[in-house]
Amino acid sequence: MFRKRMPALTFVLAAVVLAAGLVPAYRPALAQQASPVAPTRAQAQMVVREAYDKFRNETGGKNADYIPVLAQVDSKLFGVAVATTDAQLMAVGDTDYSFSIQSISKVYSQALAMEELGPDVFFQKIGSEPTGRAFNSVFAVADMPTHTGNPLVNAGAIATVSLISAKSADEKWSKILDFYSKAAGERLKLIDEVYKSEAATNTGNKALSMLLAKYDRIYGDPFESVDVYTKQCSVGVTVAQLARMGATLANNGKNPWTTEQLIKPDNVPYILSTMMMAGLYDGSGGWSWKVGLPAKSGVGGGIVAVVPGKGAIAVFGPPLDEAGNSVKAQKVIEYIARRLDFNIYSPRSVGLKASAVASSK
Ligand code: GLN
Repeated sequence: MFRKRMPALTFVLAAVVLAAGLVPAYRPALAQQASPVAPTRAQAQMVVREAYDKFRNETGGKNADYIPVLAQVDSKLFGVAVATTDAQLMAVGDTDYSFSIQSISKVYSQALAMEELGPDVFFQKIGSEPTGRAFNSVFAVADMPTHTGNPLVNAGAIATVSLISAKSADEKWSKILDFYSKAAGERLKLIDEVYKSEAATNTGNKALSMLLAKYDRIYGDPFESVDVYTKQCSVGVTVAQLARMGATLANNGKNPWTTEQLIKPDNVPYILSTMMMAGLYDGSGGWSWKVGLPAKSGVGGGIVAVVPGKGAIAVFGPPLDEAGNSVKAQKVIEYIARRLDFNIYSPRSVGLKASAVASSK
């Protein structure tokens, strides 16, 4: 046999070289982290820069103003970050600015509740049906058989918070903040002025919580759940932190930087499926059609898109479209996803080129 004829020292040397990842062809199999069809760092860097330059002067949309403090955020702020499952980060623009995570938080509270309850109970208590309505719709709660709709609209997200176990509201809040911080791989903080501004004006969310109580679809004190929910929405993130949070989902629930297995791998596909169906609210169908990536937006101006097995793209630009999704972020992610073949519905996303698809017939 080949191995028997090989002198022992050569064999040991070969093993060391392979283990150190010096032979690129063996690296993915050994490390189990980089997707074999992920773009190279140079390609990704070039495309991120192209997207940033192409859309930096985009002026469409308008800052959210129903949370008063968000209207004051500089509309020109713009940052783009890509984080990969093998722990590489590329970021351009306003990468140090901390904006409020808003509805993107809902994904990570869903993940936390699912860690405790498992997918079946979570699905039964919340559901995962798109509402086809605005994110804060009262009609959806009244009309839908589940009332909660899904965990990514306000009603479903408030009910999700009510499901997370804790002895007090403070304990629940610190559990949530801890979980988000672990997903980002860095300690995150509340932006107090955003929390105060929303807490002073969130009558609509309080109404949703009472309506859920009428249907027995909230599982704790309604106003307390709204308050913890308001805090989770006011967590500050930079685009880099948000991209890392996305990469944790792309990497089967394991943070590529800290290597902590934060989310059970079996839960990840459920979470990504909810994001695809409802992550951009009533803009989700159009988004799935054009981009084909599970994503989540927030009215603070952020969007994170997850590329399973490869990484995540996070973009921040405050002006929003009618559905409440950042205009710049949608354009940038669509551009990057097309250039790098990220659409998960395309055979090209797993490395099949058009010619290979045709010739296999
Ligand atoms: N905190 C916001 C709200 O409850 C979140 C909405 C969003 O980002 N779409 O209205």
